[in-house]
Amino acid sequence: MSFLGAAGTVTGSRFLAQAGGRSVLVDCGLFQGYKQLRARNRQPLPFTPADLDAVLLTHAHIDHSGYLPVLVRDGFDGPVFATAATRALCSHLLPDSGFIQEKDAEFANRHGFARHRPAKPLYTRADAERSLKRFRDAPFMRDFEPVDGMTARYSRAGHILGAASIRLEIGGTRVLFSGDLGHHGNPTVPPPDPPPDCDVLVVESTYGNRTRNDEDPENELVDVVRDTVGRGGTLVVPAFAVGRTQLLLYYLEKLTREQRIPPVPVFLDSPLAINATEVFLDHPNDHRLTIAQARDVCGLPRFVRDVEASKALDADPMPKIIIAGSGMATGGRVLHHLKTYAPDRRNTVLFTGYQAGGTRGSKMLAGVESIKIHGQYWDVRAQVRNLDMLSAHADRDELLDWMSAMARPPKQVYVVHGEAEAADALRHAIQERLGWPARVPEHGEQVALQRR
Ligand SMILES: [Zn+2]
Repeated sequence: MSFLGAAGTVTGSRFLAQAGGRSVLVDCGLFQGYKQLRARNRQPLPFTPADLDAVLLTHAHIDHSGYLPVLVRDGFDGPVFATAATRALCSHLLPDSGFIQEKDAEFANRHGFARHRPAKPLYTRADAERSLKRFRDAPFMRDFEPVDGMTARYSRAGHILGAASIRLEIGGTRVLFSGDLGHHGNPTVPPPDPPPDCDVLVVESTYGNRTRNDEDPENELVDVVRDTVGRGGTLVVPAFAVGRTQLLLYYLEKLTREQRIPPVPVFLDSPLAINATEVFLDHPNDHRLTIAQARDVCGLPRFVRDVEASKALDADPMPKIIIAGSGMATGGRVLHHLKTYAPDRRNTVLFTGYQAGGTRGSKMLAGVESIKIHGQYWDVRAQVRNLDMLSAHADRDELLDWMSAMARPPKQVYVVHGEAEAADALRHAIQERLGWPARVPEHGEQVALQRR
């Protein structure tokens, strides 16, 4: 097995498992965040895409799925297995990602700050659409053979709609990939299933060094909305289109209905988040809301699909809540709103979860006085807060609880999908509290899978 991404970092999840002349890739994610990480998206893979037999996706987030269009464009023509909800979400996320790559390249060329001239998109919307044809549905809680001689089983990971952990039986070894794990307190998606037995565990560690802030997200949200509206300001929420946006809408609808926050207009200014919200409505078996609840939640915001209507939001001085992508302010329409709203101290920029190092989100939370957007610096005088209890990730204790529900200890644990400190803290906790051998693999490292 080779760790081709998410080793010592949170993005670019890609794990290559090989046995008996067969090879599968578990997750095919994009690297995000620091420039040197993003540069890895341009480096050639250490295998020939055409030689790969299958891809298995844990969930739809771009850091787990966003490299598929490159893989398919460069010759991969096998199946991509994913749950029905993941497939539906990817049908919006991947073309959107291709579109963003095209726009970014175009923008860099137009404004002359491309390092490579002309800047070329990593992939296009058309590449992404072609990759969607490779998708096949993977069932939950039923063994199936993605490739002859290998068995896979998807269980719920409780992270976002359709998210799974995957147990792969390959060459006589059972490897369990946790995927991104959610937690029991998420009112919108069902909690993670207990983990099945395995020989080797590959576990995420995004919050491996943190315990969830026990503050009630509802109280925090009430404070932020009331404070901001009380100052006559606008609340700009850079939100992840899939998962976080629907969770946020759930809380905003509830708090508005209970009259705990003033009834200011809520705008969902992201065609991608609007589509993801509609996918949510289409998959009632994958979320926790009743059909009526789901309809109320999705009916709260005004949908802003059109670019002109999005720009008009910046000309309107009335207090309001704008939810726009991207969640770490690395791109998307939220950048335009930040230019308008970040320089004014009446406003609040409310992040809603993990901010990878190197992103605008992490810089703003660290308290920078200005932020670079589209080649220009903009003052940050607005309040900047993080409602990170909305995170869709389990914290250290929840990760340990999940692991300790395993009937028998695995022979080896690999801790992935965490910044160096978080991964190392979880590794340490696994060794101390569970007594299991655990290691943080190096980027690109290859390990032999122990046989049972
Ligand atoms: Zn995720």
